[in-house]
Amino acid sequence: MTRIWNFSAGPAALPEEVLRQAQEELLDWQGAGCSVMEMSHRGKEFMSILAQAEADLRELMGIPEQYKVLFLQGGATQQFAQIPMNLLAGRSADYIVTGSWSKKAVKEAQRIGNVRVAATTEESGFTRLPTAEEIKLDPFAAYLHVCTNETIHGVEIPAERIADTGVPLVADMSSHILSRPVNVEKFGLIYAGAQKNIGPSGVTLVIVHRDLLGMAPLNIPTVMDYAVMAENGSMLNTPPTFGIYIAGLVFQWLKKQGGLAGIDAINAEKARILYECIDNSGGFYTNPVDPDCRSRMNVPFVLADAALDAPFLAAAKEARVLGLKGHKSVGGMRASIYNAVSLEAVKALVGFMNDFAKRNG
Ligand code: PLP
Repeated sequence: MTRIWNFSAGPAALPEEVLRQAQEELLDWQGAGCSVMEMSHRGKEFMSILAQAEADLRELMGIPEQYKVLFLQGGATQQFAQIPMNLLAGRSADYIVTGSWSKKAVKEAQRIGNVRVAATTEESGFTRLPTAEEIKLDPFAAYLHVCTNETIHGVEIPAERIADTGVPLVADMSSHILSRPVNVEKFGLIYAGAQKNIGPSGVTLVIVHRDLLGMAPLNIPTVMDYAVMAENGSMLNTPPTFGIYIAGLVFQWLKKQGGLAGIDAINAEKARILYECIDNSGGFYTNPVDPDCRSRMNVPFVLADAALDAPFLAAAKEARVLGLKGHKSVGGMRASIYNAVSLEAVKALVGFMNDFAKRNG
């Protein structure tokens, strides 16, 4: 068996160690005589898996006790609606738009209530962050929403740019959660679809300050109410049990990498060598994003000669380097180098890209 070098944007690569453990435990989880997929979510075995996953996540991210951790379903897209449903409380919310995902979040929230765009960088093609002067905040907003890593445009908000604005900060961290240390206390709510840095699709993580619970109007569906989900320990109904189990294995794997500080150092080196390859290619490859907000997880790039796109992807496939086609809305290429993509994998990608440029430049 030869596994590919997987640079998919999501669902994406998982640590091989995690997959091997899941394989080993597939028919018989630790003597239970059945798979995690086949056991009751209310039994003591699954309850222990869920409790351990939450404890490990709390340790990794340093999540204070006043925050609830919810393992939900519906993806980050459901959160685009669930957040305003729960938090607007008849007011208006501010959104900063730095790419396709925050733009989608605005569109969805507008179906629920009043939303203001406090800043957008769309006119730049989403290649930069707004300046402080460009951001027009409403001091009475119910919350301020940001997407801290735009998966399609490759724009990441550096931690030092996250300032206290006096209103609860809500962040879509789907594509860079767990990739670096984060100060959870700066946020009112953090959410992420699992299928990049957490585990299989089907699990959606929500970390929410308890002060934001209980604000939902009575007419929203029970399953959409954070307070109800929190009271029931994410178990109002059947949770995505197998996905939570895999997420738990990923958290244990992350702890073995030295936690978020450990993975941060590896991710920094991976991103460094990939951007260096692009920037030193003499214009053969280019990345349009301002260096001060280039994503360390999603690296979009274009070839100077678009006629080489198809040969590039074909040669990449030949080299077992997969998942490089850019999102359909922007074209070009994109390499997603999430936590489970090793430095060795990124070196293989860089080797391939240098070689392709030499042969075709
Ligand atoms: N937000 C971001 C930043 C994403 O990258 C994605 C998916 O790639 C989404 C939201 C939507 O996630 P989901 O497919 O889980 O609804």
